[in-house]
Amino acid sequence: MSRVDLHLHTTHSDGSCTPSEVLGLAHKAGVISLAITDHDITTGIPEATSTGQRLGIDVIPGVEISSTVGGSELHILGYFLAWQDAPLNARLATLRESRHRRNPQIIERLQTLGIDITYDEVRALADTDSVGRPHIARVLMEKKVVTSAKEAFDRFLANGQPAYVPRELPSPSEAIRLIKAAKGLAVLAHPTWVRTTEGTLTDLVRQLKADGLDGVEVHYSTHSARQTREYLALAKQLDLLVTGGSDFHGLTKPDIEVGLGKGTLHIPDSLLHKLKDAAARL
Ligand code: AMP
Ligand code: ZN
Ligand code: FE
Ligand code: FE
Repeated sequence: MSRVDLHLHTTHSDGSCTPSEVLGLAHKAGVISLAITDHDITTGIPEATSTGQRLGIDVIPGVEISSTVGGSELHILGYFLAWQDAPLNARLATLRESRHRRNPQIIERLQTLGIDITYDEVRALADTDSVGRPHIARVLMEKKVVTSAKEAFDRFLANGQPAYVPRELPSPSEAIRLIKAAKGLAVLAHPTWVRTTEGTLTDLVRQLKADGLDGVEVHYSTHSARQTREYLALAKQLDLLVTGGSDFHGLTKPDIEVGLGKGTLHIPDSLLHKLKDAAARL
């Protein structure tokens, strides 16, 4: 069966597999088209593209930008963008700087809690400029402070836990504008994670559409069948494109596989044609 997967992380952000390793897993899973969507960085795209050419997999350049609205994090995916666009990459660099300001504060809090960890150890493991909490979780796993990334988030790193430190995030409308300015399609990632206290999801997505949003990630590893139906109806109602992806990260989400999610993810490849048509009109 031909599969697609439009949400994948690599070692260029907080995934634990290199772009070539992700492509290898995609090949095994029967994925014919995929998007690399690292957090706030585009440097993984060239390796993914050249490995894709070798394996016969279509690689769509992508990115995932974290933003915040109404007290909730909200992630915006960008697809088919001119990933070398200078203004886009300059702004992504400042977003990564906000990670470098936040992460040492998280480490200080962990140290205060009696945990032996330094930011240098995290930087060494991450080996990229886009450093995220999953990297910190992996160091905690290596040090046997926790046995899983989930435990690291539940006990220390998640919002509300003792080592949580917020970071400066752009608004969703700025994230959408950045992607559109780089000739990309902007898509609301994993709506299940949106926890806004201001109005309904429909109101929020209607506002995002007014800001330029093109689509909604309807198919996602942790969406229930009911959520998938609900988000599909929302996309239809607001005339938005439908996308889907696993959000594969490797070690920090060990139950999620490229192309398959938790095993039952099925992303219809028919949605690709609509996406490509929309991208061609940009
Ligand atoms: P950051 O980008 O540093 O704010 O970290 C957020 C990222 O951590 C998200 O994009 C997810 O990939 C990951 N994440 C959030 N919660 C968990 C969790 N419970 N287990 C594993 N990874 C998580
Ligand atoms: Zn991530
Ligand atoms: Fe995300
Ligand atoms: Fe993601």
